[in-house]
Amino acid sequence: MCPLRPGDMCTLCVPGATGPQDCPTVAEVMRDPELRARLAELRADRLADLRRG
Ligand code: SF4
Repeated sequence: MCPLRPGDMCTLCVPGATGPQDCPTVAEVMRDPELRARLAELRADRLADLRRG
C-alpha cells in the first residue's frame, strides 16, 4: 500500500522506488512535520470513511 495515498496500492509512481520502504517521496513527507501531520489527517479521514462503510 502507498503510505501517502490511504487505500491505494503502491504503483511505483516514483522512479527508482521498489516500494514504500525505499520511496523517496515517502521519506520526504516523513521528514517534514507539517506534511506528516497532514498525512495523519488523511489517514484519519480514510479510517472514518471505512468505518462509515
Ligand atoms: S512509489 Fe511512493 S508515492 Fe508512489 S505509490 Fe509507491 S509509495 Fe506511494
